[in-house]
Amino acid sequence: MSAIKEEQRAATGHDFLDRPLRDVDPEIADAIALETKRQNDTLELIASENHVSKAVLTATGSVFTNKYAEGYPGKRYYGGCGPTDIVENIAIERAKKLFGAEHANVQPHSGSQANMSVYFAMLQPADTIMGMDLAHGGHLTHGHPLSYSGRDFNVVAYHVRKDDELIDYEEMQTLAEQSKPKLIVCGASAYSRIIDFKRIREIADSVGALMMADIAHIAGLVVTGHHPSPVPYADFVTTTTHKTLRGPRAGLVLCKEKYAKELDRAVFPGLQGGPLVHVIAAKAVAFNEALSPEFREYQAQVIRNARALAAAVADTGFRIVSGGTDNHLFMTDVFSKGITGKDGQNILEAANITVNKNTIPFDTQKPMVASGIRMGSPAVTTRGLREPEMKTIATLIARVLDAKGDLAVTEEVKRGVKELCDRFPIY
Ligand SMILES: *Cc1c(COP(=O)(O)O)cnc(C)c1O
Repeated sequence: MSAIKEEQRAATGHDFLDRPLRDVDPEIADAIALETKRQNDTLELIASENHVSKAVLTATGSVFTNKYAEGYPGKRYYGGCGPTDIVENIAIERAKKLFGAEHANVQPHSGSQANMSVYFAMLQPADTIMGMDLAHGGHLTHGHPLSYSGRDFNVVAYHVRKDDELIDYEEMQTLAEQSKPKLIVCGASAYSRIIDFKRIREIADSVGALMMADIAHIAGLVVTGHHPSPVPYADFVTTTTHKTLRGPRAGLVLCKEKYAKELDRAVFPGLQGGPLVHVIAAKAVAFNEALSPEFREYQAQVIRNARALAAAVADTGFRIVSGGTDNHLFMTDVFSKGITGKDGQNILEAANITVNKNTIPFDTQKPMVASGIRMGSPAVTTRGLREPEMKTIATLIARVLDAKGDLAVTEEVKRGVKELCDRFPIY
C-alpha cells in the first residue's frame, strides 16, 4: 500500500507506477505472452536472431530507460549521470578488450545507425563508396538505392563470382581502380564464407580508400577467434550486438584512435540524441558474457551446427550456395527443387520453423520471391541443440518442403518441432 493518498495518486499519474503490465495493458501483455510461446515452440533458424540471457533482458528492462544522458561519460548535457557514466565506461572498456580495438562508441541504436555514423564522420554527399551487392549477400546500408546509403553517395557494387560464389576480389580491385572510392565497405548479411579482410585492406590502400568492415553477423565468431578479425586492418569496424554476439538489439562502432573524435561527434550530436542507457547497460552485460570461455565454446558449436545442418540439408537434395559454410549461416537454393524462397519460408513457418527467404547470387526471381532461404545456427545453438538435432531438423525441413506444405505432413513436422523444442526449453 502506497503512503500517498488515493486521490493524489490518481491526479499525478503515480497510480500507474507499480501496477502489473497485465492490469495496465492486457492487450500488450497478451502479445508478449504469445511471443514468448512462439519463441519457445519455434525452431529459430533466422541467421540474424538469437536468444539473449535473462541478465541481458534484466538490464534492457532496467530503470536506465528513464535517463537522459546526451554527451559522453564525464561530458554530459544533463545532471544525474553518475550511474550512467559507470555503465557507459564499463561498456566501452569491455568492447575495446573484446575486439582489441583502440576506440569504441557504444551509443548507436542499431547496426544501420552504426554504419551511418561512419559515413557521416568521413564522407560528403556524392562521394563514391564501394559495397557488396545486396543480391550477392551485402546489406541495404552498404549502398542500396532504397537506403540512405544509396541515396546520398555514388555507389559501386562488387559481387561474388558466378562459378564458385565466392567474393570476387579481382573485380573489387578493378572496380576500385576505376572508381577511386573514398570508402570500401565490406562485410555481409548472407555470405557463408571467410572474408579476407587483409586483402581488402590491400585493395583499399592501392587506391587510397578508407576501409570499413561491417561484422554485424559474424561479431561473435570474430571475438572468439572463429573468423579472422578485421580490427587490425579496417579504419572502422561496425557491428550489431544482437546477432551472433547475443546481446540487446543495438549497434557498436570501433575505430582507430585517430578517428575517435570525428566518430563520436557523428554519433552525437550528428545523428542521435540521448543514448539508450538501458540498452548500453545490456550491451555491457553481453560483452562480459562474450569475454567468457563458455562463449568461445558456444561459438565453436554454432559453427559445428551450421556445418552439420548445411551438410544434412544438402543430403536431402537441395543445392547449398558456395557448397557449404565457414560461419554460422548458409544459403539454400530451394529453387533447385522448384520451390521459391517465398513459398519455402511460408511452408516452414506453418511447421514452426522460422527462416527468411533470400535472393541468391544471380537469382532469376524477384527479391520478394527469391530462390533461396537463409538459415543460421546461433539461436538453436543457444537453446542447447547440437549436431544430432541438426540432422533431425534437416529431415523435418526436407519432409515439409518436399511435400510442398501438405497439411497432414505439416502437422506431422510440427509435432517433430514441438518435441525438439520441449526437450530444449529456452530459459
Ligand atoms: C543486420 C545488419 C545490419 C543492420 O542492423 P540493424 O540493427 O537491423 O540496423 C547492418 N549490416 C549488416 C551486414 C547486417 O547484417
